[in-house]
Amino acid sequence: TVYHFGGNAAHDDPRQGDKTVTGGKGANLAEMASIGLPVPPGFTITTEQCLEYLAGDKTFDNGLRSAVADAVAHIERSVGKTFGDASDPLLVSVRSGAAISMPGMMDTVLNLGLNDETVEGLANTSGDARFAWDSYRRFVQMYSDVVLGVDHGLFEEALEITKEDNGYYADTELSADEWRALVSEFKSIVQTELGEPFPQDPQAQLWGAIGAVFDSWDTDRAKIYRRLNDIPHDMGTAVNVQAMVFGNMGDTSATGVAFTRDPATGARAYYGEYLINAQGEDVVAGIRTPQYLTKDAREAAGAKPLSMEEAMPDAYGELARVFDLLEGHYRDMQDIEFTVERGKLWMLQTRSGKRTAKAALKMAVDMVGEGLIEEQEAVRRVDPMALDQLLHPTLDPSAERNVLATGLPASPGAAAGKIVLDADTAEQWSQRGDKVILVRVETSPEDIHGMHAAQGILTARGGMTSHAAVVARGMGRPCVSGASGVTIDRKTRTLRIGSQELKEGDEITLDGANGQVMLGIVPTVKPELAGDFGTLMVWADKLRRMKVRTNAETPDDCRMARQFGAEGIGLCRTEHMFFDAGRISAVRQMILAEDEKGRRKALEMLLPEQRADFTGIFEVMTGLPCTIRLLDPPLHEFLPTQDADFEDLADATGLGVDHLKRRAGELHEFNPMLGHRGCRLGITFPEIYEMQARAIFEAVCAVQKSSGEAPLPEIMIPLVATKRELELLRALVDRVAEEVFAEQGERVDYLVGTMIELPRAALMAGEIAHHGEFFSFGTNDLTQTTLGVSRDDSARFLAPYVDKGIFPRDPFVSLDIDGVGQLVEMAAERGRATRPDIKLGICGEHGGDPASIAFCEKVGLDYVSASPYRVPIARLAAAQAAL
Ligand code: PEP
Ligand code: MG
Repeated sequence: TVYHFGGNAAHDDPRQGDKTVTGGKGANLAEMASIGLPVPPGFTITTEQCLEYLAGDKTFDNGLRSAVADAVAHIERSVGKTFGDASDPLLVSVRSGAAISMPGMMDTVLNLGLNDETVEGLANTSGDARFAWDSYRRFVQMYSDVVLGVDHGLFEEALEITKEDNGYYADTELSADEWRALVSEFKSIVQTELGEPFPQDPQAQLWGAIGAVFDSWDTDRAKIYRRLNDIPHDMGTAVNVQAMVFGNMGDTSATGVAFTRDPATGARAYYGEYLINAQGEDVVAGIRTPQYLTKDAREAAGAKPLSMEEAMPDAYGELARVFDLLEGHYRDMQDIEFTVERGKLWMLQTRSGKRTAKAALKMAVDMVGEGLIEEQEAVRRVDPMALDQLLHPTLDPSAERNVLATGLPASPGAAAGKIVLDADTAEQWSQRGDKVILVRVETSPEDIHGMHAAQGILTARGGMTSHAAVVARGMGRPCVSGASGVTIDRKTRTLRIGSQELKEGDEITLDGANGQVMLGIVPTVKPELAGDFGTLMVWADKLRRMKVRTNAETPDDCRMARQFGAEGIGLCRTEHMFFDAGRISAVRQMILAEDEKGRRKALEMLLPEQRADFTGIFEVMTGLPCTIRLLDPPLHEFLPTQDADFEDLADATGLGVDHLKRRAGELHEFNPMLGHRGCRLGITFPEIYEMQARAIFEAVCAVQKSSGEAPLPEIMIPLVATKRELELLRALVDRVAEEVFAEQGERVDYLVGTMIELPRAALMAGEIAHHGEFFSFGTNDLTQTTLGVSRDDSARFLAPYVDKGIFPRDPFVSLDIDGVGQLVEMAAERGRATRPDIKLGICGEHGGDPASIAFCEKVGLDYVSASPYRVPIARLAAAQAAL
């Protein structure tokens, strides 16, 4: 129940090193002591005691009381002082320490054991009355605040008045007598506030502090923090009681915090702050400006007050030795608290330090070079999502931000430019050299050219898988979606963002990493794809089993994805090619045609265009598998809406505007996402899929002829629910293939497969697999259809769902493994049972999400596919999943 550390304690019970038993602080203190580092002796009361205390009537049982008495005796023997001894008192600190460090809990009480008598003893033995009375007033102040619950402002006020009356600036200017007078005042504050005197009995003080640490586990603040950070409520906190060492014993004493490497850059340089003649809380409280640890850091900052290296060379030398020992022992960057008492160094805490993405990458790679860790451990240590910060230009962290509104961080990176309110304006302005931000209520496929022309996209509506978000991520354009503070007036071409009135042409900046919309141009810094990134990626690639492909539909995106390491295309959404300004008219003629003959006429215009699209892509992707999906979206989405569009169409077809409008009205759908889309288009209008299959095969044959090497086309039929749909459409694809091969005198390999994006397809996967050589899980639609939640409308209500714990995370971002995951697993099993060598992949947005990727590894998918900028994230996540 109580573990001793330091002094000549044994440290041989493995439970003492178990953070769930002794907490992070306790386990590490024991570990430091056991490797011979200078740790003031002390003891840890276990988390189990805390849970027992909280579950019972909040009293301390006799077992605990006698274990603590023994443990105090251990400290007394080690330091040669006695707790409560009026002539030479032992003083202790009492600190909380859960397994996971947790702001919100009681932190620290220092100098416990002081009272009106022992303070005189401390003054005598230290030969420094000022130090003794300063320590006592700190104790009364801290104990009254954190244990007794007296408002700390009352004490600070009293101290300020004393300083003002005497014309002092710093606390260190107060004399022993002035501190003594303040202590009396502090004690009468306690008497007035509580109607009881400040406790003088050191035993009562100790048990009061232990109880306060236990109780702090159950405070509202701590509970809220645990809920927000997924920390279980049944872990409890440990209590650490430790002999005091004093950083406030004059100018040969000091206290500080340090990192063994720079947590911002990862540079191998000691990094930290210290204060001479101070106790721990002074460094964080900001009363005095802390000084630099090293001479180099002081000089680089142009600061005057001496660094620790210069002011206390011996203690600093010892600290540097300890830093190296700790890094060697823990094999990671450490975050440390220390105190120097009259020239002697003492260690008070160590733990793995928090770090930026850049630092995490550099440290992981450096530590492999230094022989501290293996490549595998380096791969494990870097958070894949953190790579995102490194791949896009980011806002200069030191720049000022005037934030107008905040939306969803839909696609990362920073973008700045002039506001434009429609896609055509975006294109025109960017052609004349302006940088523009496209601001829309929401985007539709018709806006693609404007999104491409823009630096970034801002929408008032739509979630993380809305059209704007998906397309922006695919293009690598920063995007903030669903910013409800944005309202647009198309007529006056003005808008309001937050409380700011703006007009087209005004400048704004987007931060796609946190969803902020800012006024004006905020400066950016370029991504640093330094050598460390490449090195870590090579290690990750050696360790992963799954392949990583990309979702891409232009040669540029394909090229970028290959630079990021993509090993093929997992999803080419051919509809994106249909919205190109040059051909939307032909697409509309095809859709609005009355009969097959009319449709075929329009499709003839589209064939050469599609063939050119595929040729461009295949030339970049030679030798690699390329999944091309035949037309998927509801025809509804292509319909003209503006009068001008109808007039253009009338000119092109010779049909009247009224006729065209009537036809468009007939094609209107109430629920297009469950309407005339996916393979239903291929079944009802087979000529569309025929044209697309022909374009694909002609393009592959052409690339095969020109470069001697073709990609492997994998032709994918979307939204299949039944085996018969796939059977019919695969026969169509095979027939077109044979026609083209005969015409070209050239054969190429190809596969035909389907998406699994409807629950019925997952259920019937065993039958469907008879007709398809691969399955690609379209988890965007599979999530939408399984949950019955519209992917385009969910932003409005999913956030509260996540807050209330109904979903752990947005299911369109991170796969609902419990629910949708079952369908994926079942379909994979049933598909393999029919066709053991069936190729299995995922191409929904989840293919770029590390938690979902781990699930894909577990169910044995062959590959994941993600938008180009997410490819490195997926490579690292796939490696971690395989470890
Ligand atoms: C899907 O549904 O998961 C998918 C990849 O297709 P889309 O996002 O184009 O509907
Ligand atoms: Mg889909």
